[in-house]
Amino acid sequence: MPRPIHATVHLPALQHNLQRCRQAGGAARVWAVLKANAYGHGIERVYAALRGADGLALLDLSEAERLRALGWRGPILLLEGAFEPRDLELCSRLQLWHVLHRSEQIDWLAAHKTEAPQRVFLKLNSGMNRLGLRPEAFRAAWTRLSHLPQVEEIGLMTHFSDADGLRGGQEGVRHQLDTFVRTTHDLPGERSLCNSAALLRHGLALHLGSGPEAQPLAADWTRPGIALYGSAPDFAQHSAADWGLQPSLTLASQLIAVQDVPAGETVGYGSTYTATHAMRIGIVACGYADGYPRHAPGSNAHGGPVLVRGVRTRLVGRVSMDMLAVDLGPVEAHLGSTCKPGDAVTLWGRSGCGALLPIDEVAQAAGTLGYELMCALAARVPVSVEPLP
Ligand SMILES: *Cc1c(COP(=O)(O)O)cnc(C)c1O
Repeated sequence: MPRPIHATVHLPALQHNLQRCRQAGGAARVWAVLKANAYGHGIERVYAALRGADGLALLDLSEAERLRALGWRGPILLLEGAFEPRDLELCSRLQLWHVLHRSEQIDWLAAHKTEAPQRVFLKLNSGMNRLGLRPEAFRAAWTRLSHLPQVEEIGLMTHFSDADGLRGGQEGVRHQLDTFVRTTHDLPGERSLCNSAALLRHGLALHLGSGPEAQPLAADWTRPGIALYGSAPDFAQHSAADWGLQPSLTLASQLIAVQDVPAGETVGYGSTYTATHAMRIGIVACGYADGYPRHAPGSNAHGGPVLVRGVRTRLVGRVSMDMLAVDLGPVEAHLGSTCKPGDAVTLWGRSGCGALLPIDEVAQAAGTLGYELMCALAARVPVSVEPLP
C-alpha cells in the first residue's frame, strides 16, 4: 500500500466558486487566475471546472501553451507580460493578451513583426509599487501604444495592495481607485482592477468615479484567484463560508501509529510539548515534505487545528519531515471509541463524513496564508479529482 497521504481537487467546488465570483462582479467578465499551476491544484486538473470563465490569466508562457494544448481557444492573459522580446512571437502564435507594465515592453512591441495586432492591458502603478507605469508616465505610454500597428486594443489595468482591509481608516482600495480614475478617466478601453478581495468586498459597491453612469469597481474584467480555490481573501474578517465559497482542495491522510504517553513525557523533536496527563497521541503520515507548514504550532499553549475521523483536535509537538502528532483525547471522548492506525485524518478541506476544516484556519495557526499552503503542496502527494456531476 502506498503511504496513505493524498490530496483531492474538488471540481464541483471550483465551478461553484467561479459562479460566486461571477455574481459578485455583475456584468463584468471574469479572468480566472490560474497562475502558479492553478494555485497548486494543477492546470490540467482544474481546467474542466474553470473553462466556464471568460478568460484565463497566468504568468508563464509554458502554462499558456498547456492551456492551448488542452483546447482552450478563449482569451489568455499574461499578467506579467513578456519577459523578453521573443516572447511576443509566442503571444502572436498562441494569440495571448499581455500586460505592458514597463516602457521596454512597449519598445519590444513596437519592434515586433506581426500579422495580427495584439490585445494588451497597459498597467498603472496606482500605489502598490510592484508593477506598472507611474501616473505621470501612463498617458504618454498610452498615446504611444495607440499609434502602434502591432496593437489591436488597449485595456487599462491596476492592482490593489490593501483590498483585503482598511488603510488609514478607509477602505484599502480607495486611494488607488482615486489615482486610477484621475489618470484614466477620459481614456477609452476595457478596465480591470479587482482581485478576489476587491471583487468580493467592493465589486458592485464602489464605483470608478461618481454619478449615475459611473462603472462599478468590477468594471469590464475581474481577476479572481484565491476565491476560486475556496479560500477567503480577507480571512479572518470573513471566512470562506461567509463569502459562500467551498474548499477546492483537501489534504488527507491516516494515523499510522498510536502512542500512550504518560503524564510528564514529551512528544517529538525538541520536546516542545509535555503531556499534561496520560494521553493518547496519534501519529499522522504527513509532514513538511508533503507541504504541511513546519511552523504550525504544537506547544502546550497552542496547537494547530486538525480533524481525526471528522472530529476537531490539535497538533502536539513539532511537525517533522514526514509525520506530525495529534491529541486523540477530544476525538475519543466525542466518538466514544478508541482511535487506531488507519483512522482518517483531514489536514485541511473536507473529511469523508463531510466535516470541514478551512485551509485558512490551518494557515492562520501557522502564521501564513491559504495561498501559500495551496502552492506548497508537494509533488510527492498523489492527487485525485472529484469530477463534475
Ligand atoms: C495573483 C493576481 C490576481 C489574483 O489575486 P487573488 O488575491 O488570488 O484573487 C489578480 N491580479 C493580478 C495582477 C495578480 O497577480
